Amino acid sequence: MLPTDAEPQGGCPVQLVVADEDEHSFSLQEEALERLLLREPVQDMSVVVVSVAGAFRKGKSFLLDFMLRYMYSQKQVRGRGMLPDTEDEPLTGFTWRGGCERETTGILAWSEVFVVDKPDGSQVAVLLMDTQGAFDSQSTIKDCATLFALSTMTSSVMVYNLSQNVQEDDLQHLQLFTEYGRLAMEEVYEKPFQSLMFLIRDWSYPYEHPYGLEGGRSFLDKRLQVKQNQHEELQNVRKHIHSCFSNIGCFLLPHPGLRVATNPHFDGRLRDIDGDFKSELVRLVPLLLSPENLVEKEIGGEKVTCRDLLLYFKAYMKIYQG
Ligand code: GDP
Ligand code: MG
Repeated sequence: MLPTDAEPQGGCPVQLVVADEDEHSFSLQEEALERLLLREPVQDMSVVVVSVAGAFRKGKSFLLDFMLRYMYSQKQVRGRGMLPDTEDEPLTGFTWRGGCERETTGILAWSEVFVVDKPDGSQVAVLLMDTQGAFDSQSTIKDCATLFALSTMTSSVMVYNLSQNVQEDDLQHLQLFTEYGRLAMEEVYEKPFQSLMFLIRDWSYPYEHPYGLEGGRSFLDKRLQVKQNQHEELQNVRKHIHSCFSNIGCFLLPHPGLRVATNPHFDGRLRDIDGDFKSELVRLVPLLLSPENLVEKEIGGEKVTCRDLLLYFKAYMKIYQG
């Protein structure tokens, strides 16, 4: 299918689920979803869904831009690498960051579903999603739980994007999403969800737990540990999270530098990004997206195609609206 006017070549973010904040409801953009998933050649391929989820203004789009660059560099589009060749080239081309439009609560996906050859010779379709919501009042938390549940149910890898640390709130929110998700699933699966990756931005204790995956593992082991003398509620949150995902990881990412964090005109040029951040980023992105690391979406132990995913989206959405 040729790109339509609404989808310039090179891609753009497409809204899949829109929130109506006044009505406290969500709607599925079925046409957009069909256009995305019922396309040749991806519709009958097993799908890999990588979702970056979290609150606003925490660097999700910034990360997604690098993820896109990685996907396009694998396709060798315009000969780009994941990072630009020169320090002064702005990060343009595939931008997830909206222009002047107000950013809204909901689920977005990149308009291009990538076809990737896995090392075993199979081909998979890779869908990138962005899930965002606010967690500043009881009502928004409840609304967002539905949205995040939907994202957790439909993704094979959920990157839970957090700033600086894993707070008790973050764990409670996660428990709420996964409980909503579990309720909506028809059958009771031992582990209803697949991979969860805590991504901690602006990690500032590398001397305690070093940046990256290993440091993340030791940090998370400590943070998710169930202790005898802990309050029962804290124990339950931890047990619940362990029981929901087949695989839980954590990656500690350094601060990108003040020029990224504070300059509103920052255009992504590498010169302005701290070296530590860049070196961790080039480790993180392939962990999520390199062909050997791609995790196919499974529901009830069965691999799901793009076409199936569309049906699941519709079915789950109906449950929440029902
Ligand atoms: P989103 O709303 O979560 O998608 O956040 P954006 O990617 O739009 O980023 C919000 C702001 O944070 C922008 O000014 C970014 O340049 C900046 N930013 C991006 N990544 C990071 C990070 O890891 N740490 C900090 N402190 N700022 C970041
Ligand atoms: Mg964003």
